[in-house]
Amino acid sequence: MHEFSIAMNIIEIAEAEASKANANAVKELVLDVGTMSGIEFYALDAALEMAVKNTILEKTEININKIQAKAKCAECGNAFEIQHVFDPCPKCSSLYHELLSGKELQLKSLVIDVDD
Ligand SMILES: [Zn+2]
Repeated sequence: MHEFSIAMNIIEIAEAEASKANANAVKELVLDVGTMSGIEFYALDAALEMAVKNTILEKTEININKIQAKAKCAECGNAFEIQHVFDPCPKCSSLYHELLSGKELQLKSLVIDVDD
């Protein structure tokens, strides 16, 4: 399962960051995931739920920031929301465009608890 290995990877990075900061818990974790990153959101959700078991992220609130893919038309310069790679420009029907966003898959932020 593609999403599971991604979830494991994210949790590993988060754990490493948390231990670097001497955190004993992670309150919140925010992910940026683009709608054209190839990720199934429900599958990633489920995978993360499994991946946090027995880690310091077990009680962490995980928020997935869904980033709507946007493209810029190569013919008329129109920027529009895109659902599929081959969606035509709604203005001029051109199939040539450049993806502006939507491929994101990254750890955006981590809110940690530090013992003092
Ligand atoms: Zn266009």
